[in-house]
Amino acid sequence: MQAYPMLINGQPVNTAEQDPVIDPADGAPFATCARATCGHVDAAMDAAAAAFTSWRKDEAVRREMLAACSAAIRARLNDFATLLSREQGKPLTAATGEVIGASVWFSYFAKLQLEPEILLDDDKKRVQVLRKPLGVVAAITPWNFPLILLSWKLGPAFLAGNTVVAKPSPYTPLTSLLLAETLREILPAGVLNMLSGGNELGAQIAGHPQARKISFTGSVATGKKIMAVAADDLKRVTLELGGNDPAIVLDDVNPEHILDGLFWGAFQNSGQVCTAIKRLYVHERVYEPIRAGLIARARSVKVGRGLEPDTQLGPINNEMQLGKLTELVADAKRNGATIEVGGTRLERPGYFYPPTIVTGAHAGMRLVDEEQFGTALPLIKYSSLDDALAQANRTHFGLGASVWSSDTARAAAVVQEIDSGTGWVNQHLDITPFAPFGGAKWSGVGYENGLEISTRNQLRGRVTAINRRIYGQREHSGRATRLRRDGCRQSTSLL
Ligand code: NAD
Repeated sequence: MQAYPMLINGQPVNTAEQDPVIDPADGAPFATCARATCGHVDAAMDAAAAAFTSWRKDEAVRREMLAACSAAIRARLNDFATLLSREQGKPLTAATGEVIGASVWFSYFAKLQLEPEILLDDDKKRVQVLRKPLGVVAAITPWNFPLILLSWKLGPAFLAGNTVVAKPSPYTPLTSLLLAETLREILPAGVLNMLSGGNELGAQIAGHPQARKISFTGSVATGKKIMAVAADDLKRVTLELGGNDPAIVLDDVNPEHILDGLFWGAFQNSGQVCTAIKRLYVHERVYEPIRAGLIARARSVKVGRGLEPDTQLGPINNEMQLGKLTELVADAKRNGATIEVGGTRLERPGYFYPPTIVTGAHAGMRLVDEEQFGTALPLIKYSSLDDALAQANRTHFGLGASVWSSDTARAAAVVQEIDSGTGWVNQHLDITPFAPFGGAKWSGVGYENGLEISTRNQLRGRVTAINRRIYGQREHSGRATRLRRDGCRQSTSLL
């Protein structure tokens, strides 16, 4: 069995004690990885702190290296995609898309301009805002999109001149370790350090005094622990946390036009997406064809091993998550909901759970109130839009939301009434490098991807105020919205 090493100060490091990595398609270990100790954490942090001194100095060099990282990922596309499909379970086509995405994200950050913000520049005074690196960033990632979510952290950290100590999920460490091995050829020693281990390793990294920022993606429960640890040392945090996204289907839709979007909005990556549709509210006028169309798709979709060519949905990634999903569906059934299709684990090796449509579920049931993060979707009929909106907002989560309608302007107005970091119209899940991404309420603190325009807009607000006094200009709007050619729309709320 291949034993994957960590990367510390530019050197591969393996350990006598190894952790098995399980193939979710058969439940059996197929590789092992190193298990970091406290000593490894100290060594990685020291290496990152030492590398920071020179790494922060030359932005042009960092841009060149980010572009080289992007190319190096593309050059090993098949290696990454096969390994990702094996350790995560997702279909090879989806794994390939994720690897290409990671490469695109690196390339985006290689080119992103970080111009100084000029607040005032006249013959008496110049006031500007510059961006400076923080030092060592601790980057901690989950198991659903291990590679692309890591690229969301590494790209901006490196562009800004930070160095990184990263830790993948113990369920999917291998693509991150392969990335470290690949980028070792490009980055100076210590700029990227990759450690593998369990949750306790995450806690050690997050609490380490050398780390000046924690960039975390994972569950709400862990996010709260990290925020508490960060408070003690006043570390900066970006927290990308769980979601329970509502989608609201208005009364005027043509069901045939939206059924594929709804189905894949909920079931892509076997539902293991932070911003998957996790609660679907459908107006009574179109409820029946939507219900029937989703059931038909759930019945016809091909569930199987990610590496098989015709697979559309892979297994759930791990036994813990499969257990949670099973429990939430069973709880809904016990409390009177109807399992229209699916509803039990497939009788074969591996963690397979078929796409499951649940009707008659309502607020108060765990399947509706909690994040299922898997292949089960509660379908909730409504007659009053105000009621659907109240239900959509009746949660601590606030990651994404979507509204579906033949009238995009109407849907765009309705989606603004949902308290979420991202709002979509006639689509769900579309994420781009240039749009800020983050959660409202318990779904997160801060943003990733595009420039954090909350800060920029605050600045712009100040600049505008100054400009207005000086030049009499008008105020800017507080929302960023982009209109797509196909009539879909996405907006990021500035919270
Ligand atoms: P998790 O919180 O269990 O683990 C995430 C990472 O944190 C892992 O690497 C884990 O080892 C580490 N960790 C665990 N305990 C820690 C601690 N005390 N201190 C530091 N690190 C610790 O989450 P998960 O099960 O891996 O991922 C699924 C969750 O992630 C879901 O809730 C999903 O919605 C969320 N998620 C959010 C986003 C987003 O962008 N908002 C994206 C993907 C996934």
